[in-house]
Parts: sequence; C-alpha cells; structure tokens
Amino acid sequence: MADRVFNFSPGPAMLPYEVLLKAGKDVVNYQETGIGLIEMSHRSKEFIAITDETEANLRALMGIPDNYKVLFLQGGASSQFFMIPMNLLGPGKKGSYLNTGTWSKKAIKEAQLFGEVEVPFSSEETGFKRVPKPGEYKVSADSEYLYYVSNNTIYGTQFPHIPVSEKMLISDMSSDILSRPVDVAKHGLIFAGAQKNLGPAGVTIVIIREDLLTRTPAKTPTMLSYKTHADKGSMFNTPPCFALYVVGEVLKWLKQLGGVRAIEEMNIEKAGLLYNAIDSSDYYRGHADKDSRSLMNVPFTLPSKELEAKFIAEATAIGLNGLKGHRSVGGCRASIYNAFPKEGVQKLVQFMKEFEAKNPA
Ligand SMILES: *Cc1c(COP(=O)(O)O)cnc(C)c1O
Repeated sequence: MADRVFNFSPGPAMLPYEVLLKAGKDVVNYQETGIGLIEMSHRSKEFIAITDETEANLRALMGIPDNYKVLFLQGGASSQFFMIPMNLLGPGKKGSYLNTGTWSKKAIKEAQLFGEVEVPFSSEETGFKRVPKPGEYKVSADSEYLYYVSNNTIYGTQFPHIPVSEKMLISDMSSDILSRPVDVAKHGLIFAGAQKNLGPAGVTIVIIREDLLTRTPAKTPTMLSYKTHADKGSMFNTPPCFALYVVGEVLKWLKQLGGVRAIEEMNIEKAGLLYNAIDSSDYYRGHADKDSRSLMNVPFTLPSKELEAKFIAEATAIGLNGLKGHRSVGGCRASIYNAFPKEGVQKLVQFMKEFEAKNPA
C-alpha cells in the first residue's frame, strides 16, 4: 500500500486495493487451476461461474427486476449512444434527450442518425452548471423515451433524483452506477462503461427491459442488436473476460461493505468534506450549482490559471494525483468514485487549506 497514491483520475479510476491484489494473482494462476484468468476459455466452467456470480451480484445490489436482462458488452459507453437509437428508434420515431453536458450531446448526435430527437431541456448556454428540476421540461406524448445522463462526469453535476416522467427512462450511469440506490423499474435501459465506478475499461454493462428486445429493426447488424447478446447470455462472442472478472470482484467488495445504501452514505460524507472546503473559502469555486452538485466529480477553480498549475503540481508531489480539470471546463477536478478512500479526500482538503494560506490571490 505504501507505494500507492491517491488518484483523483476521472476514469479509468481508483479501484479497491484488495481487488487489484487478487486480480494480480488470478491473472497468473486462477484459483490454483494452473491457468491464468486471461488464458481461460470463456466457455470454461470456471469462467461461466464468474459471469453468473457477477450478474447475480449486480442484480442483488441494484435490485434489478426479473424482466430485465443484464448484458456485458464491448465498444465502451460511447457505443450505446448509437446502439440505443439503432435498436429503439427508426424513421419517424422520436426520442427525448435532456442535454446536460458533453456525454448527452454526443448521444443526441448519434440518435439523430436513426430517428427524430427532441431536447426538452438544455443547460448548454449556461455552461452546463446544472440539471433540470422536475417539471422544468415537457416531453412530447409521441416520444419513445426520455434519455438522461445521471452524473455529468465533466461538469460535476448529477441528478439528485431520477427525472420525473411518464415516459420510460433511459440512463447513462457510466460515472455513478452503484453509487446510490436507483429505481431500475422506471427505466427501459440503463448502461454504464465500467471504468469509472465498476472496474477496468473494456466492458459496458447494459440493463434492458425484456420487451424492448423485439423492437430492433430487421436490418440491424447481428453484433449491434441487443437481442443477440441477451439470447446468448453475453456469450455470442468472446466477452471482455478480464474486465468482467474485475467488475465481479468490485461487486463482491461492494456487497461486503454493505451494498449501495452503505456506499451512498460514504459518498455523501466524502463529497461533503470537499464541498465544505470549497464553500468555506472564496479562493476555491465550484463549477456546478449547489442543488445539482455531483457526489462523484467535483470540478473547481482557483483565482488564476497560474495558481491552478502550481496547485496541481504541488498536490501531485505529495501523492494527490489526477487533479487536472477536463479541457472543456479547465481548473481542477477531483473524481471520488466509490473506491476512492476518505483519507484521500481528507488529505486534499488539508492541502487546499495550506495552499490557500501560502499563496494568497
Ligand atoms: C466516460 C463516460 C462516457 C464514455 O465512456 P467510454 O467507455 O469511454 O465510451 C460516457 N458517458 C459518461 C457519463 C462518461 O462518464
């Protein structure tokens, strides 16, 4: 542990240390089989047991109803931007998108390739500083779904509650899945790339209501149809074995911690420490409006670009890494997902105080 730093990277991001240690061992020799985890057939009984247990734990932790399929796909969260409209829209069919940042904009662009898109809310003009309040947007009666990005990784905003709508919801939960309880049943589809809150890059989780699997137009390529993967238990082709295995280990870790409600409390506490530090000084300023603040990503600025560069350099020197903000927002960003330790946040807050005292604006 001594050689580890606190890594505030937005993704890939910190994973539980015990999971990394176990993964290192299993990669070389999986449970004394004499075969490394990433050398094993995905159809071996060992690997099928990993997949089954991972799915069962995800279902239990999220409370996924039985009429939903869980898929382990590749192509990153970004491939879902087109797979969703490709499977669920079509000529003349409309999808509604809440535009709250870079990731929703990208999803809107792809959806326009497959159907009609309406954007009942956008905070783009005001720098994506907030998410909408319930009732602040109106979704057309003929829309198929309401799409939202649960946590906006770059701008540090998060829906405090899932959007209120009569429509089926579709959510990109890439950067806050399993960070708090969510009512899956209000959703037609939830997806998340693993590399923020779940594991390594390479696997994307898709949770899809079964009745939606029959909507896919006939000429959809086999690999891009949800039904292909649902029918074969994500084994139509070789799944991303290593990433899937690590997700499984992260889920076991989360279960042992007490599950989603327990981690939510920890996340509230960690983010609270950081927002308190920001709010108690004029030196640091948060990007997001207070009622839209994310518990996962905390972008903030200092009085000048020079001070920001100095802050990031000095923080790095004491083992607080990855604090540089996204190029579209600038400043700093602390990403503090489920596996990020509270001690790291405490150390950052302490450093912020010292830095402000030593470097007046
Ligand atoms: C990181 C991120 C993505 C993109 O994920 P990839 O796996 O790199 O395609 C999409 N949506 C959100 C909310 C993200 O944070």
